[in-house]
Amino acid sequence: MGAIQALRGTRDILPEEIVYWQRVEATARDILGRAAYREIRTPIFEETALFERGIGEATDVVGKEMYTFSSRGEKHSITLRPEGTAGVVRCFIQQGLYSQGGAQRLWYTGPMFRYERPQAGRQRQFHQIGVEAIGSSDPRADAEVIALASDILQALGLKNLQLDINSVGNREDRLAYRQALVDYLTPYKEELDPDSQDRLSRNPLRILDSKNERTQEIALGAPSILEYLGEESRRHFQRVQQMLGDLGINYRLNPRLVRGLDYYTHTAFEIQSEDLGAQATVCGGGRYDGLVEELGGPATPAVGWAIGMERLIILLQQLQKPPLPVVDFYVVSRGDRAEPEALLLAQKLRRLGFSADLDLSGSAFGKQFKRADRSGAGACLVLGDAEAESQTVQLKWLATGEQSAIAIAELLEKADELRRRLDAARAAQGGV
Ligand code: ATP
Ligand code: MG
Repeated sequence: MGAIQALRGTRDILPEEIVYWQRVEATARDILGRAAYREIRTPIFEETALFERGIGEATDVVGKEMYTFSSRGEKHSITLRPEGTAGVVRCFIQQGLYSQGGAQRLWYTGPMFRYERPQAGRQRQFHQIGVEAIGSSDPRADAEVIALASDILQALGLKNLQLDINSVGNREDRLAYRQALVDYLTPYKEELDPDSQDRLSRNPLRILDSKNERTQEIALGAPSILEYLGEESRRHFQRVQQMLGDLGINYRLNPRLVRGLDYYTHTAFEIQSEDLGAQATVCGGGRYDGLVEELGGPATPAVGWAIGMERLIILLQQLQKPPLPVVDFYVVSRGDRAEPEALLLAQKLRRLGFSADLDLSGSAFGKQFKRADRSGAGACLVLGDAEAESQTVQLKWLATGEQSAIAIAELLEKADELRRRLDAARAAQGGV
């Protein structure tokens, strides 16, 4: 019988790759924490209606990409979350987080699910880190979230990034623009790709981010939404740009960067990388002043973004490899008395704050020594039955080969000295 394989569009993330993930998570946690963001974890599946209302039925995500199912005896249809915002806003409303006053700054990370054609940087189970700043309409909130995304990507050492920004105005602005866009596109209707033809009546703004070449050509000549912004929207956008400038963040105005849904307002932005090929967008976000109300909460402005983890990791892997964490001690043992003693020793070392890798093979000492050498440990501890009997251990420094017998009790008492020697050995190897 053939072995079962992981499903198409899903990936195993092996320990060698996890170091990148942990670095991204630690960097985000640090930078967001210093900006008073608090982490939030919401369920991975929710009632389907949440996404239908929260993302919009006319979008690709809801129309074609959701994993939806019915569950034993449940009256609701259930969907694996395709993104994080809807769940966070549902939680914000359900848990009454608005009653705490002020803006709620929240961040999350976790898996998302979309039925898509898998390719590099596009999977069916993928991961995002996202932020939502809920409760402020101040343009400083827009600039702040953009600055935080930029700080995270910079702290990770990424280069060749491009920030595009736009404003989709408020509801009235967009209504006026929508009409102008339909008037412009209608004569070209037959030349648009089938999806875009369909969107012409349902969601014409989305046509602007069609990936079809001819449609893109036509879109180039479309009127710009920036010309349809009213006074309030124009001022909001001006201030966001002013502050990005003050923060030293480079951006490009891209009037074709739009979101088709009514609750998206004002600022929209995207960060792309030149080094990613077709799936270039690492981070997408914007303001969604209408969403909380749309989902049944009190009218509350909000702004946020999501970073695609897999795309970010692809970029990090093109840069320098982070060092693998190495252990302090590799514990080798053989013999009926020695083996349980070795476990005891490893546990005692761990409780003292060292890391210790215990060889469980029981194989010949020679084989275990080879594994000790490959482990990258600072030192090897060797226990045979004779050592166990006399409560001693052979301590071998792997970089120099220097070896001596030492009483176990003495070894444990010398923790500080051992720590200094391990640090020195590591520094000599050029590690961290
Ligand atoms: P795209 O145009 O690439 O499909 P999107 O507009 O659907 O992106 P968003 O919903 O804005 O993407 O999600 C934010 C980020 O999440 C994207 O910029 C991307 O980095 C990442 N992302 C989205 N879908 C996937 C996927 N299927 N696989 C991997 N990453 C994804
Ligand atoms: Mg998509």
